[in-house]
Amino acid sequence: PKYIADPKRYENMPYQRCGKSGLSLPRLSLGLWQNFGAVDSLTNARAMIHRAFDLGITHFDLANNYGPHYGSAESTFGQVMADGLKHYRDEMIISSKAGYDMWPGPYGIGGSRKYLVASCDQSLKRCGVEYFDIFYSHCFDPDTPLEETMGALDYIVRSGRALYVGISSYDPEQTRRAAAILKDLGTPLLIHQPRYNLFDRWIEDGLTDVLDEEGVGSIVFSPLSQGMLTDKYLNGIPQDSRAARGEQIYLSENDISEATLDKIRALNEIAQNRGQSLAQMALAWVLNNKTVTSAIIGASRVAQIEDSVQALDNAKFDSEELTQIEQILRT
Ligand code: NDP
Repeated sequence: PKYIADPKRYENMPYQRCGKSGLSLPRLSLGLWQNFGAVDSLTNARAMIHRAFDLGITHFDLANNYGPHYGSAESTFGQVMADGLKHYRDEMIISSKAGYDMWPGPYGIGGSRKYLVASCDQSLKRCGVEYFDIFYSHCFDPDTPLEETMGALDYIVRSGRALYVGISSYDPEQTRRAAAILKDLGTPLLIHQPRYNLFDRWIEDGLTDVLDEEGVGSIVFSPLSQGMLTDKYLNGIPQDSRAARGEQIYLSENDISEATLDKIRALNEIAQNRGQSLAQMALAWVLNNKTVTSAIIGASRVAQIEDSVQALDNAKFDSEELTQIEQILRT
């Protein structure tokens, strides 16, 4: 049956202006890095995308190599678009990226114009869309002049392949240079996509200052530290979790150390006192940083998206809570 979106989808989700641009993003966005590949259930993937959109999550974040296999998350997304979601294209912000390894040889990785433009074209085909709303340089490439990488992003916009451009995981100085080059080219830098969560706060050390000065927004990834900032690992490692899945090199059982568990337990207590789950508090906490426009959540099932969206019902912190959190993170 054709998908019909919930008519109430805009009633609860707050939208925030991205930097000094005209574009607003939902405070929570959905990322398709994991659980949307060819190895995963299409039915579950479709249900998560539909539920997210029904909850006001207008923004879907992709990259060329999300899967496995590489490219397959975009193909899944394209399938869901073709099955009825495409009707809502103008209500959606769809992003993709190139930078990390995608295909063999020197033109399938890095920051060259050759790679970025070819990869963008492949991604558009897989997603079944005519343009991306945001196209990113996925990582800084020290072997390519930054002028070339930013020139490629500018060209991608001017040739109609994307509306806005972003960079991901660039350090403060690289970000300042990228913003300056893009400004000269006439395609302003819309957004930076860094990792940010209670356990990884590197952006507070210079990056957010640069973004504020340049009027650039940010959308943070792994806000739950891939699931560690939830109550799921408190009593061992569940079979259906990311840490248990053998093939994952990004989060393994070794990451769930006793010292980390102590912090998770203490944070969980504060969350409970606030009347929310740890996942909800962890999301509210990243959104409390004024430079953060949106947080990209990942999910393996619909219920997690529903749970995470409720973070927005209690997103404010008093100074005592913030102090307690600082103390836990410092131990
Ligand atoms: P999260 O930190 O949000 O981790 C998501 C995982 O946490 C889920 O798969 C699930 O784990 C668990 N989870 C989610 N919601 C809940 C909940 N309410 N309660 C309990 N557990 C929950 O983000 P990701 O690391 O997945 O990254 C999100 C997105 O960010 C990616 O999809 C991608 O779009 C982007 N990203 C960008 C990168 C870049 O280089 N630019 C790098 C990495 C990510 P489980 O599977 O165990 O159920």
